[in-house]
Amino acid sequence: MVLTAEALASGVDQEWAERVRDLASRNDAIILAHNYQVPAIQDVAHYVGDSLELSKISAGLDESVIVFCGVHFMAETAKILAPAKTVLIPDQLAGCSLAASMTAEEARAWKAEHPGAALVVYVNTSAEVKAEADYCVTSANAVKVIESIPADREILFGPDMFLGSAVERLSGRKMHIWMGECHVHAGIEPTNIRRTLDANPNAELLVHPECGCSSQCMYLASTGDLPADRTFIVGTGGMVRRMKESEADTFVVATETGMLHRLRKENPEAELVPANEAAVCGYMKMITPPKLLRTLEVLDRGEDLSPYEVDVAEPIRSKALVPIERMIALA
Ligand code: SF4
Repeated sequence: MVLTAEALASGVDQEWAERVRDLASRNDAIILAHNYQVPAIQDVAHYVGDSLELSKISAGLDESVIVFCGVHFMAETAKILAPAKTVLIPDQLAGCSLAASMTAEEARAWKAEHPGAALVVYVNTSAEVKAEADYCVTSANAVKVIESIPADREILFGPDMFLGSAVERLSGRKMHIWMGECHVHAGIEPTNIRRTLDANPNAELLVHPECGCSSQCMYLASTGDLPADRTFIVGTGGMVRRMKESEADTFVVATETGMLHRLRKENPEAELVPANEAAVCGYMKMITPPKLLRTLEVLDRGEDLSPYEVDVAEPIRSKALVPIERMIALA
């Protein structure tokens, strides 16, 4: 395990990393970190990935404890997929503005207004909202899911209005779209992207279709507002492959800035420029190195885990599992 210069600069050290790994191994725990986590946490984690990658990993782990370094709905998804495991999050208040833009009561009321309609929700939703849904989608499989729904069935799509509008345009299917959004997308607006591309005229634009922060870019790409010959909407693996294949040596990355750490590690030669340095998810950054260590210390001492433990009660868990499994099957 090697700590990066950024990790060391962020105030954590090798001793911290060794203590975290030691406590995890002594307590049969595995650390999962989302791509938007601070570099030190990405570097110490056993697995780093996007929301869908981490969901799939959660479902197949041998360890009895998952320490989830990401936002709350992601830790809930891990618990739904691995109910026998203890799932801990270093800060229960690490939420998501997009997930918060639709409550279960609102989902139920919306369904009541449109009897018989299919409710399709983005993975960035609470377990209670997923339990109301027929399908859960990622940005990558949303069009495929919508096309699989019989043409005569009404569709309610939420909570991300940018993803909903992009999917409506790409699938040609009229839908009712919830007006929710992620606050971070405001940092990745067309003006930011154009300014950054103008300053880097030979650069390609890489958009990670992972979170609500980049769904506006998907919408802009679907309307032709981004340069089609220089824009690539690809997952993490696709970004790394594109950087290796491309003749460009500079890439503008239109996603939350945490993603750049992972991409720089995978391809140190490439010049990576964030579309906007201010595109930072404050919720993701609520998970800090000291909070991760404290969570593991509480686990190690056998103290009360309730401040950290994520649980999803029945029947919510079983109901939410159905659309999540459909999402994974179509991923
Ligand atoms: S970037 Fe936006 S959609 Fe993603 S976790 Fe943060 S608030 Fe939620």
